Amino acid sequence: MSIQGFVTKLNPRAASLQFGVGGVPEVDWRDYCGAWAALTPFQQDYAELIFRDSTSQHVRLRVLNWLANQVKDECLRIGLKPRQKSLISMCLALAKIALHQVEHRKGACPGCKGLGVVKGRSIPSNTCRSCNGAGQGSYTLVERLQIGGLTGIDPSGYAKRWEPIERMLLAELYQTEAVCGAKFGEV
Ligand SMILES: [Zn+2]
Repeated sequence: MSIQGFVTKLNPRAASLQFGVGGVPEVDWRDYCGAWAALTPFQQDYAELIFRDSTSQHVRLRVLNWLANQVKDECLRIGLKPRQKSLISMCLALAKIALHQVEHRKGACPGCKGLGVVKGRSIPSNTCRSCNGAGQGSYTLVERLQIGGLTGIDPSGYAKRWEPIERMLLAELYQTEAVCGAKFGEV
């Protein structure tokens, strides 16, 4: 069962899909609720946001706040303070930048067509340079600063001080996605 299928089943309008050929229930709704209950509240919110077509702004705000809190904790831990913005607005900007990249993916990298490697190149490796082997198109630094409303910020300063935290958030989001996928796959 795909994660999309799972979330569809949580939607009451799709209740009739629960029955397979001959009216025999394939997987009981309780199985799905069990998988859902095994997720943390953040994982539930994130799964709903990413895999469901219509999600309330409420859920999106909760995800943004959770991400912003991660940034704040990290800033306090490493003693990082924004120079031009308040800490809270910087935390929210980073949360928006990270979330945008998973909500609006750029699709396959044009350099390697999503493969992550370029054939025929041997030195030093055949890893695609456009996407660093990720296979995904990525947002430029300028685009990301625009998304976060940080256009007045020095790009090289952002790349040095804030980009590592942005990457941490992205890694967290992809990890959450993998966890959710694995849970639903177990049903
Ligand atoms: Zn590539």
